[in-house]
Amino acid sequence: MFEYLKDLNKAQQNAVLSSEGPALVIAGAGSGKTRVLTYRIAHLLKQGARPSTILSLTFTNKAAREMKERIAKVVGEKAARYLWMGTFHSIFARILRMEHETIGFPSNFTIYDSADSKSLIKTIIKNFQLDDKVYKPGVVSSRISMAKNNLITPNVYAQQTEIRLADKNMRMPAIAEIYKEYVKRCFLSGAMDFDDLLLKTNLLFRDKPEVLEKYQKRFDYVLVDEYQDTNYAQYLIIKKLAAAHNNICVVGDDAQSIYSFRGARIENILNFKTDYPTHKIFKLEQNYRSTQTIVNAANSIIAKNKKQIPKTVFSEKKEGKPIKVLSALTDNEEGFLVAQEIAKTQLNDHYKNSDYAILYRTNAQSRIFEEALRKRNIPYKIYGGLSFYQRKEIKDLLAYFRLTINPADNEALKRIINFPARGIGGTTLAKLETAAINNEISIWKIITGLSQSNPANLNKGTTSKVLNFAKLILKFTELAQNTDAFEAAKTIAEETGILKDLYNDKSPEGLSRHENIQELLNGIQEFSISAKEEGRPEKLENYLEDVALLTDQDTEKDEDRDKVTLMTVHSAKGLEFKNVFVVGLEENLFPSGQADEKNKPEALEEERRLFYVALTRAEENVWFSFANQRYRWGKLDFCTASRFLEEMDEKYMDGFDFNKMPKQRKQPENQFQQETSGPSFRRQTQHTSFKRGDTQNIFDKKLVNLREAGKTQSNFEGDDPSKIFAGMQVE
Ligand code: ATP
Ligand code: MG
Repeated sequence: MFEYLKDLNKAQQNAVLSSEGPALVIAGAGSGKTRVLTYRIAHLLKQGARPSTILSLTFTNKAAREMKERIAKVVGEKAARYLWMGTFHSIFARILRMEHETIGFPSNFTIYDSADSKSLIKTIIKNFQLDDKVYKPGVVSSRISMAKNNLITPNVYAQQTEIRLADKNMRMPAIAEIYKEYVKRCFLSGAMDFDDLLLKTNLLFRDKPEVLEKYQKRFDYVLVDEYQDTNYAQYLIIKKLAAAHNNICVVGDDAQSIYSFRGARIENILNFKTDYPTHKIFKLEQNYRSTQTIVNAANSIIAKNKKQIPKTVFSEKKEGKPIKVLSALTDNEEGFLVAQEIAKTQLNDHYKNSDYAILYRTNAQSRIFEEALRKRNIPYKIYGGLSFYQRKEIKDLLAYFRLTINPADNEALKRIINFPARGIGGTTLAKLETAAINNEISIWKIITGLSQSNPANLNKGTTSKVLNFAKLILKFTELAQNTDAFEAAKTIAEETGILKDLYNDKSPEGLSRHENIQELLNGIQEFSISAKEEGRPEKLENYLEDVALLTDQDTEKDEDRDKVTLMTVHSAKGLEFKNVFVVGLEENLFPSGQADEKNKPEALEEERRLFYVALTRAEENVWFSFANQRYRWGKLDFCTASRFLEEMDEKYMDGFDFNKMPKQRKQPENQFQQETSGPSFRRQTQHTSFKRGDTQNIFDKKLVNLREAGKTQSNFEGDDPSKIFAGMQVE
């Protein structure tokens, strides 16, 4: 018997010991799925598997880090270090960099975040002289993202009458053309967006069997956490990698599938059995996280969903206290009550700040809680929303880093060519950009070619300013190659004048921006030091890669340790806290107004799963809260309590009587009623005839059709495989 197996119950041990062949661990929240995955890897290593042959995919970088730490405790630091463990995006970005020549990208390609993507789409909409009130960049971007996640390339997109028709119905018939242009411009910028990391890996594996074979041979074992939230592109990559040996272990819970709006496909977990006929299934039933009250309450809620795999979950922990329901008159009072409960229980039960999490449905709700916590001097940290890395001054400096590493990066260049001001105005930039588009090259190439040709028609003075800018960037590029990330970053912050300008600005905003830049530099210094200690590459480009791949859960810094956590339920997946507040439990908010019961039972079931995820994050205590009035979209809403409160057996709750609550679910009969009696259930969804869920449906249907028609051997799209990366590559 191995010592470490003592940390596991019998069912968990069985799952860990069955090292070979396909394995599915399907079980409810808190039953030790992630723990099983962790110990399974430790066990493989103990049995002599080499770390570099194990590929393990997690939902966040933080989860990967924690798993590695745990494994290191069992098998030692060194073995854990060489595991291929991380998010899908970080692992496949690494592989794409190694294979960059095959896909025709520079090894230092930039990873565009969603703001970069949207800004590029906006530019294209403008260049195409389309109306950006009709072609909303956010909507266009999510259409393109959905296509990519379903492995539909621009050429295929353009040929699909069904998809084109859907675009037409949305009054956006030109999306196919925008998509094509978007792909082309990303290519010219040496940039990939998040979805590209998965799409291009799939194309690579489809079109270059020898490359696929190399990775099939490299990875003897493939393991995936949170399998229920993988999308089609992720599913196919895993399937291909595991095809040679079938050593694939996935763990998940269909009741926690909450990302269908981003293309996650619950079918992936449901079809595992048919995908791998020789599979073994392991069911875990004991929840080790939560009190009996919490587990039973969660079970009673999820039982209302029709579509689910039946599961037993029980807890042998204490019965615990009932869930306390906080009913507030206004959203401000909701904030006050939550902060008050935190202060009260801290006093009585000596909880730390970090023992509390406030989970909400939408990022916009955080402000109320921030204010309330600040008033009581309770430290907190917010995940997601406008995070540290999205602040203007941080993005400006990061844009310099990006351009230093990849000067073709047009989005970065546009951001800082005249920041700090150096007399290169909007007209000059527009000329440069037009010349770049016409010549199908990057703006950087236009600039560096200015001494030979001047397609942008710049005058002498402007030309010299632009060339000076290029000289500065070239100097940084050389510096970044020869020094570590911190040295390079510090010099760039100084020599661009960004640091000095902020230092001289003594307004409170200026001071705080200056502090933020210092904070960023501190982070980079830490990165350089720990990279050196661990023998990892320590260059600016390596730091940038880390930052580009951060997820909503990954923003924790050292000084954030003892703080109350504020986050959306979506980002709380996989985490646990002693005390959890599930707030904003009102109709139209949670469940979201998009989840129309009659038209979209699936959407409501997903909201219920989300509620299940929220509840099952808690170990000891849960609070539910709602307000009767709330400001949303700048308007006062009168709210009714969430149906989830009504659905829950009263015996698990304290302080709530649904019969006393105003109930009003129906569409108001007339305008007057709508004005006076608050939100109707469907109010927010009626103004567009096409919704996000429908988008996914169209792509899903498309995919099924393609598969049924058996059009391609690789199952995913109708491109002619002889045209490698058709439509993706521009020579
Ligand atoms: P989720 O569905 O939320 O992702 P999970 O199934 O992955 O949950 P884990 O996070 O692995 O569950 O485990 C939940 C908690 O229970 C963790 O704190 C874990 O350390 C603990 N735990 C799991 N198994 C055992 C065990 N056999 N003995 C003691 N504690 C355990
Ligand atoms: Mg887990």
